[in-house]
Amino acid sequence: MADTWQQMLDTIATEARYTASMTGRTQFSEAVMQAMSEVDRSAFVPAVNREQAYDNGPLPIGNGQTISQPYIVALMTDLLELTPDSVVLEVGTGSGYQAAVLAQLARQVYSLERIPELAEVARKRFADLGVTNIEVRCANGCDGWQEKAPFDGIIVTAAASEIPPALIEQLGPGGRLVIPVGPPCSYQELLQVTREPSGDIHRRRILGVAFVPLINDQKYE
Ligand code: SAH
Repeated sequence: MADTWQQMLDTIATEARYTASMTGRTQFSEAVMQAMSEVDRSAFVPAVNREQAYDNGPLPIGNGQTISQPYIVALMTDLLELTPDSVVLEVGTGSGYQAAVLAQLARQVYSLERIPELAEVARKRFADLGVTNIEVRCANGCDGWQEKAPFDGIIVTAAASEIPPALIEQLGPGGRLVIPVGPPCSYQELLQVTREPSGDIHRRRILGVAFVPLINDQKYE
């Protein structure tokens, strides 16, 4: 039986409790849970998968890519610790679901996607949903988005073999980068990288995850 939206929210809360010893949080912030209850995941999955839209699993979105599982979306969002003033960079727009969740919590979201078709579909979705604080650009996210930096939060939704240096450089003081790091097509480690106000970089391992690879090829425009 497919889950309902409410069951999806309950599962996120249960998973948050189960993983508390790894993540350091027994629950996600009220604001994050509110955002998860406001953005309809079914609007971001292909029509054939709509029935499973609220199941706590990844789903295909075309072009060999996937929309992440809802618990991971909530966890990564929580780890960014956004405020209503935050400016966030996402690498890997995909369906646009994660960006739409971020857009509920932050002032402005910039999102980079290397596949033009996905970037275009996501842009159209945001327009249809009336979301106006997300800008999507088709470009290699490994270079970040220099013109819009520094960012209060950077989230990478594809697995990097190592942290792209540009992303660390574009992180503002006190900012957080949440990124899965590890070999492609295997398990990776979700990292929370913080730039302390002093400038020091602090890395924390959160837990094991499985993401599609971050592809570091050249220009797309
Ligand atoms: N955040 C997405 C999940 C996307 S899956 C969602 O909510 O649906 C990861 C995405 O990263 C894919 O769409 C893939 O095309 C994109 N990607 C991979 N390497 C990239 C790169 N170097 N720059 C930008 N996007 C990249």
